[in-house]
Amino acid sequence: MPFLDRPLSYYFRLALSIIVGGRCEICGEITASEFVCSRCLLGLPYVEERLLPWNKICLRFEGSIPICRAYSLFYYIKGEGSQHIITSIKYRRARALGIWAGTFIADDAQSCGLFDDVDLLQPMPIHILRHLRRTYNQSDLLVRGIEARTGIPISNLVRRHKYTCSQTRLQASERRENVVGAFKGRRRAILKALAEKDRRGKATLNIAIVDDVITTGASVINCARAILQAVPERAGEITFTVVSLAISGRSPMGVVTPEKLHLDDATCSNEDFLNSQHRPLS
Ligand SMILES: [Zn+2]
Repeated sequence: MPFLDRPLSYYFRLALSIIVGGRCEICGEITASEFVCSRCLLGLPYVEERLLPWNKICLRFEGSIPICRAYSLFYYIKGEGSQHIITSIKYRRARALGIWAGTFIADDAQSCGLFDDVDLLQPMPIHILRHLRRTYNQSDLLVRGIEARTGIPISNLVRRHKYTCSQTRLQASERRENVVGAFKGRRRAILKALAEKDRRGKATLNIAIVDDVITTGASVINCARAILQAVPERAGEITFTVVSLAISGRSPMGVVTPEKLHLDDATCSNEDFLNSQHRPLS
């Protein structure tokens, strides 16, 4: 019987899932897998070139910050499974799902050595008011999952001290202005990280900035710049690896231009983006 072809642990988890009500986050079917059933997991819109040392995700940051590598697990597509996962982590307090997604990223990226040269994991910070309202930072969950697999320490090198509310009514120039100065680097903590880098004999400090969704990349860029600006005399010793669960824009990007990246919307927060209509790259 094909039913008996699976290991006993599978049936144990299946029975447990039925008893405790474990269901797939995407399709809602009872599943023995963790959080997402294998059928939905296979159907996610993975970024094909995510494991390459240089890929189109890097292009969103090239020229803006010293980028080492960039990785996004899948595309954010409205109405599809990837949106279910993101919204569950972000708005439905699915903390365990967020941590699991972090471990999934670490396991997936292991083959390409994405984290081999990373010194610190920096979750994308959210404003304290948003943190109090949501009670958690979704990027913290991803980072905890990555830390569990890689052992790389979690850092707190930057804070978000400017609350950015909905910007849908703002003009493009006002939006750009709105995100400027949203982050502030913690000079003492960054210098301490650099000193540890020196002690280990490394030429550069590689900080992985981890976010749930990358849209234009403006938040990551501003976060990284805040770190660099906090230690201008040693900024040349810092590089960044960008890691996200999802990225917008499934279409092949071809030649990248600011217009294609909708940089006029660069100040739009991920939250605003998810609440508005998805705009694929043209
Ligand atoms: Zn499913």
